[in-house]
Amino acid sequence: MDVKGSASVIGAGSSGLLFAKRAAELGVGVRVYDQKKVLGHPVRASGILSISGLDSLGIEYKHIVSNTIYGAKIYAGNEVMTIRSGKPQAHVLNRLRLNELLAQKCTDLGVEIERGRKVNAEQLDRLSDSGIVVGADGFNSGVARHFGMVSAGTHVLTYREVYFTDDVEELDMVELFFDNRICKGFFGWIAPESKRTIEIGIGIGPEHGNSKEAMNRFKRIGRVMEVLKKCRFVDGGASVIPLSLRDRFTDDDKRVLLVGDAAGHVKPTTGGGIIFGGSGAVMAAEAVKNYFDGNGRISDYERMWRKQFSLDMKLHSVIRKVYASLGPAQLSYLVKAAKLLGAESFFSEKGDMDRPSVMLKRLFANKA
Ligand SMILES: Cc1cc2nc3c(=O)[nH]c(=O)nc-3n(C[C@H](O)[C@H](O)[C@H](O)COP(=O)(O)OP(=O)(O)OC[C@H]3O[C@@H](n4cnc5c(N)ncnc54)[C@H](O)[C@@H]3O)c2cc1C
Repeated sequence: MDVKGSASVIGAGSSGLLFAKRAAELGVGVRVYDQKKVLGHPVRASGILSISGLDSLGIEYKHIVSNTIYGAKIYAGNEVMTIRSGKPQAHVLNRLRLNELLAQKCTDLGVEIERGRKVNAEQLDRLSDSGIVVGADGFNSGVARHFGMVSAGTHVLTYREVYFTDDVEELDMVELFFDNRICKGFFGWIAPESKRTIEIGIGIGPEHGNSKEAMNRFKRIGRVMEVLKKCRFVDGGASVIPLSLRDRFTDDDKRVLLVGDAAGHVKPTTGGGIIFGGSGAVMAAEAVKNYFDGNGRISDYERMWRKQFSLDMKLHSVIRKVYASLGPAQLSYLVKAAKLLGAESFFSEKGDMDRPSVMLKRLFANKA
């Protein structure tokens, strides 16, 4: 089922590789370029993914799961809210192994991946003359810049560190810290990656300073100090998470589309982008196949994506703006009130990490 036409994917992160895999399955000719020789290295992001989201990506991932999460402890001011489900909610995946797994799937399908190849502006023009260009080149997308796809949106600066330990207290729980004196505009976290490793991380709005300094403040919180006493530093570094959509992420005339972080397909509450980005990438591959078959436009992908995910993106965005605007006393009060109203058991039973709209439906169904 060879399809007339080819796509050049710039970036072999999870989104670019998921696009390439699906497009190749559909018979589209694909070539992937990444500036890195070792894909995904160095790792600067976590790999906590909802199980329902992971299952929807259509990859066999079980052998790269390093931990399984059942819930979260949320610290806000003086309050702690514990959400623990009877069922596993999320898996922690090793990000390097996820990249390798996806790259191998692509190679098995005949996709060529050129590693260590940074694509420049002149090459982008050549590639778009001969086929479709897929910008999967992350937050600071050169493809988006080159083809005039702007982002008026916001982002957070992150810092993440990984530690060895012999003593992970609760392997199946993540801890989240909401304190606008330390990480204004986002949050801090402690997450067990495996039986022997934990990671700590923070995000901060760019207008509130630098992420390394925010990390140093975070490491002075009593609970974080207590955990780090038993740990040995392995690695750490800064990165960025986009928190809003590009104004547009397809251009029919220039035959360009963006996927993943390049498009801003990330949950603004948690910064999770693998599921959102990956689902969009699969949708994009299907639109590209239809385009080459003469049955659709590249922008069908944008239309379908907005139809499916816009409401959830907006809800995530509103939730983040609310908590970003609250001081410690107000956050404590909010969490205390939520606990009194039964939020712990509601989230434990009916929470949905990816889709607040699904959770709202469950809430209203409860009340009916
Ligand atoms: C601290 C942190 C924690 C996170 N935690 C989670 C989490 O727990 N769960 C989750 O789902 N998401 C998480 N995310 C978000 C997630 O990491 C991203 O959404 C995801 O990696 C986006 O994938 P991508 O393929 O779109 O982009 P990227 O992973 O950024 O890949 C872009 C690729 O493009 C390549 N590239 C760039 N420019 C060029 C060029 N000119 N030529 C060739 N190649 C180029 C880069 O080398 C890179 O490999 C986290 C992010 C951070 C920073």
